Amino acid sequence: ANAYVGFDTITNQIEHKLLKRGFQFNVIVVGQTGLGKSTLINTIFASHLIDSKGRFTADEPVRQTTEIQAVSHVIVENGVKLRLNIVDTPGYGDQINNEGCWDPIIKYIKDQHSAYLRKELTAMRDRYIQDTRIHCCLFFINPTGHSLRPIDTIVMKKLSEVVNVVPVIAKSDSLTIDERDQFKAKIREELAYNNIRVFPFDTDENDEEEVQINETIREMIPFAVVGSESNVIIDGKSVRGRKNRWGVVNVEDETHCEFVNLRNFLTRSHLQDLIETTAQIHYEAFRSKQLLALKE
Ligand code: GDP
Ligand code: MG
Repeated sequence: ANAYVGFDTITNQIEHKLLKRGFQFNVIVVGQTGLGKSTLINTIFASHLIDSKGRFTADEPVRQTTEIQAVSHVIVENGVKLRLNIVDTPGYGDQINNEGCWDPIIKYIKDQHSAYLRKELTAMRDRYIQDTRIHCCLFFINPTGHSLRPIDTIVMKKLSEVVNVVPVIAKSDSLTIDERDQFKAKIREELAYNNIRVFPFDTDENDEEEVQINETIREMIPFAVVGSESNVIIDGKSVRGRKNRWGVVNVEDETHCEFVNLRNFLTRSHLQDLIETTAQIHYEAFRSKQLLALKE
């Protein structure tokens, strides 16, 4: 009867420690200028970002991004502290000659891995290393309804080798539901054809339920999203949405778009997986390559 020693409390002990430390989540947004990248980020973390300084405001005359910029926010929900880094990139593929336009983005991602590795390798390394490694790359696809541009295929392929890529169809309110579903299927085909591995990945650690969830996500990718920084009135209620030619879109209504699916995916179901996959797959690949190169 006295066999209980209490080691089962280790989960509470870990939780206590983690809560004190907080969590770090770094997102990069990639895609042509004007596809709604800044808007979507503000929509996802809307209520939280509103008072942060450094928020991309809608009414700034020029908010077109001309260089890679990281903006940090600390957000708190029920005592859980999340340090959120949003990295905004200049619209790539906007130029006539797009050769190499992805290089600065890839370099930025690798630079974060490299900085982390350097800190890990110092003799007196910090107990807790400040982590700027990018956990998630939101890749914005033009809602043409046809297919990916060749440059999108190239860039997604390059990105998927260094970071978790989550493709989204931008401004999907410009497509009908039928067009949208056909476009989504077409993009999934093209991703498969070009061997582009987007997040999530299955690992042998996944249980049956996790495998099933990932399968559902894969059938849904790319998320067709609509972003908005202002509210519209629908049925007398003020909701986050936008007016367009056909009527009003409620961003949070799952019959209108997949914004809520994306947000749940990023925050409720796969936040930890995004962070872990970054460390265990992408960073690990970078690290072993660097360390092998040192030996030669
Ligand atoms: P970025 O250059 O990719 O950061 O694009 P912005 O977020 O600055 O948005 C460019 C313009 O598109 C703004 O006028 C937004 O209000 C508008 N916009 C953003 N998201 C959507 C959307 O989902 N649907 C529509 N129709 N317009 C959008
Ligand atoms: Mg922007």
